Amino acid sequence: MKKRLISILLSLCMVLTLLPATVLSAGVGTSKAGDAAFTLSASSASCADGHTGELGSIQVTGVDISKWKLDKKITIQYDVQYRCTDSSCELYHSDDSFFSYSGKHTFVDTNAEFCHKKISESFTATIPTDLTSGGAKNFSVSFMLTSDKGIYESVLHEQNVNLCTENYYSVRCWECTGCEYFFTKGDMSGDKLTKDNVYFHPVGHKLNNVPAKDPTCVGKGTVEYWHCERCTRNFGDEQGTSELTTIETNAPLAAHRYDANGACEVCNRKAAAGVQANAGMVWYDTMGKALTALTDGAQLSINADYADTITLNHTCTVEVKAGVTAADIRIENAENCVVTIVNNGIISNLSGYTGKVVLMSAGGTYGKVINQTSGGNVGSFLYGDPEDANKFCYYKNLTNGKWILPAEATTNTQSNVKVSYAPMAYIEIAGDGVTGSEGSYAFTTSSGNTVAFTATAKTADGEDSANIAYKWYYDGQDGTILSEKAELTIENIKAGNRTVVCMATADDYSISAKLVITVTGEKESQSFTLSVSKTTVGIREKILPLLSVEGIKEDAAITYYLMNGDSPAPESDTVIDENFAFAQTGTGSIYAYTAETDNYAATASAPVSITVTPHADHCICGGMFNHTHENVEWQAWDGKSEIKYEQKWVQVSEYTKQGRYVAYVYLTGNV
Ligand SMILES: [Zn+2]
Ligand SMILES: [Zn+2]
Ligand SMILES: [Zn+2]
Ligand SMILES: [Zn+2]
Ligand SMILES: [Zn+2]
Ligand SMILES: [Zn+2]
Repeated sequence: MKKRLISILLSLCMVLTLLPATVLSAGVGTSKAGDAAFTLSASSASCADGHTGELGSIQVTGVDISKWKLDKKITIQYDVQYRCTDSSCELYHSDDSFFSYSGKHTFVDTNAEFCHKKISESFTATIPTDLTSGGAKNFSVSFMLTSDKGIYESVLHEQNVNLCTENYYSVRCWECTGCEYFFTKGDMSGDKLTKDNVYFHPVGHKLNNVPAKDPTCVGKGTVEYWHCERCTRNFGDEQGTSELTTIETNAPLAAHRYDANGACEVCNRKAAAGVQANAGMVWYDTMGKALTALTDGAQLSINADYADTITLNHTCTVEVKAGVTAADIRIENAENCVVTIVNNGIISNLSGYTGKVVLMSAGGTYGKVINQTSGGNVGSFLYGDPEDANKFCYYKNLTNGKWILPAEATTNTQSNVKVSYAPMAYIEIAGDGVTGSEGSYAFTTSSGNTVAFTATAKTADGEDSANIAYKWYYDGQDGTILSEKAELTIENIKAGNRTVVCMATADDYSISAKLVITVTGEKESQSFTLSVSKTTVGIREKILPLLSVEGIKEDAAITYYLMNGDSPAPESDTVIDENFAFAQTGTGSIYAYTAETDNYAATASAPVSITVTPHADHCICGGMFNHTHENVEWQAWDGKSEIKYEQKWVQVSEYTKQGRYVAYVYLTGNV
C-alpha cells in the first residue's frame, strides 16, 4: 500500500514537470448574455519564442447570441492584457505596463443545446504584436469560456391531472424557450420531451346525478344536481353547463325522531327532557318546552345535561337519568305541591321546603341538598314507606361512607350524598333444622354431626342484596372468624350451647343475625392444671391462698376439694374454703373442680399431694386463768423470724387483768 502511494506521487510529479512553464495572472472576465452569465478565463499563455506569458485583466466586452436561432453561432468579444516574462524578449515590459488586445471569437453550437445547457468552450487566440523594431511577434493565449446556464429562459409548468375544462401539463416540467423542448428536471438534463408528450387538452366533466333530498333533523334538503367527481363542482344540468353555487334548499329542518329512550333515531341527539302525563313519554328538544308541557301529577324525565335552574311549583315526579347532570333543581314552597325526585344521575344542587320534597332511593348523587324552611332539616325529605316502618331511605355520605338515618339528618343541608334504602334489611340463615326469622335463628343437633348454614342478606322488599361480604364468628369472639363466605360449615360439632353471629357488609353498611345452637350429648371436659405454691404446709396453715388453676374455659366456677378417697368425689370430699387448714400431720390430696358451663362438662383436675408437718403442734401457753384458744388469730412462724406481739388485757389472777404483749404462733418449719 505504502509502495503504491509513493509510485502515484512520483507519477504526479512527472505530470507536473511536463506542463508548459506558464505563469498566469488571476484575470477572469464575466458578462451576461440572454439568461446566462459568461465567464472567460485563461489556462495558459506564451510568446512565439515559447517564453512563459503573463496576463493582466481579461474582460468580456460583449456576447452576441442573436445569431443562435438562425445558425447556432455565438460570438464573444473580449479585451486582454498580456506580456512576456522573459527580459530578453521584445514582448517583455520591466514596468507595470502590458500590451492590450481586443479579440473576438465565434463558435458554433453544433448540438443546438446551448439554449438550455451550460456552455464550456475552449479556444486559442493568436495575437500578432507589431514590434517597435519593425516586424511582428505572435503571443498566444488558451481561453476557456463557460456559462452558468443556457442562454434562453426556461419556464416551469406545474403538473395538473385530467382537468375538466382547461389544457394541462401531465407532469411538472421545464420548457426551454430556445429549442422548445421540455425537461422533467430543473437543470434541463435528461430526456428531451416534445409538447405532445406533456401537454393535453381538457377531458371534460365526469358527472353523476344526485337526486333531490328532503331535509333531515340535522341537514338541509338538496335539489337534484349533477356532481363532477373530478373537479367536485355541482351543476344543475347533465351537460355540466350551469354550475350551482349551492345545492341546499331553504326548507326548514325536520323534527328529531326520538325513540323510547329519548335519543333521535336519525342523529342520536338526546332530547333535553321528556314528559309523561297519561299516555306515553313525549320528548322535547329543550327543557323550556318540556317544563311548559309538565302538567300537575306528570313525570319529568331529565334526559340530557342541563346547566340552568329548573324551578318546580306543582306536584310532579322528576327523574334524572343515569349519566345526566342537572345543575340546579328548586322546588318552591307552593300550595299542594309535592315533588318526588328519582335521581339516577347527578343533581348538583337541590333545594326545597319541608313537606314539599320526597327523595326516593336511586343510584345518583346529590352535590348539595338544602331545606329552605326555617329550622327545617333535610331528614324530612327522605322517603319512608307508610305501610312498612322498615322501608325508608337513608342519606349515604359519599365522602366518609357513613349512612345517615332520617332522624340523624337534623341539619338543613347535606353535601355529596346519595339517597338509598339500606343495602340490606335483615339476614336470612338457612340450613336443615334452622328455625326463626329476620335475623334471629335457633338450631338443635347432636354432638358429632356436621352442620352447614347459608346466610342471605335481604332487602326490605325481601330481595337478595348484591355484593355482600359475610363474616361468621362466635358471639363475643369476633377476633376469630369461622367463615368469610355466605356459607358456614362446622364438622364434628361438639356438645353445648353457643351463639353464632353472622355479619353482612355492603357499601359500608353492616347488619348481623344470631343463630343459637344447642348440641345435645356429652360435653367436652375442661383441660386445666392445678398449682400449689408450696407442697409442705404446717398444721393450722390456710390452704386456699396456696391454690391456683390455669386453662379454665368459659369462666367456669371452681371449687377446691380435699380428696377423701382414692379418686375425686365432689359429693363427699371436703371443700377447701378460706378457713380450711389441716388439723393433723400426714399427707393430703387436693384437686380443683370446675362447674359445668355452656360447652364444657364439670371436670376435676389431676390431684396434687401436700405434706403436713407436725412442727406446729408445740402449743405452750403462759396463761392460767379463764381463757381458751378458740377464736385466736394464729400466726405462721418459721421459728426464726421476729414474732409480732399485740398488747392485750389478760387474766393474771383469779380477779385481776393486766396489759401484756401476747402472740399466738404455730411453727411452719423443722427448727
Ligand atoms: Zn517572449
Ligand atoms: Zn433548448
Ligand atoms: Zn369537472
Ligand atoms: Zn335528530
Ligand atoms: Zn418441733
Ligand atoms: Zn392460753
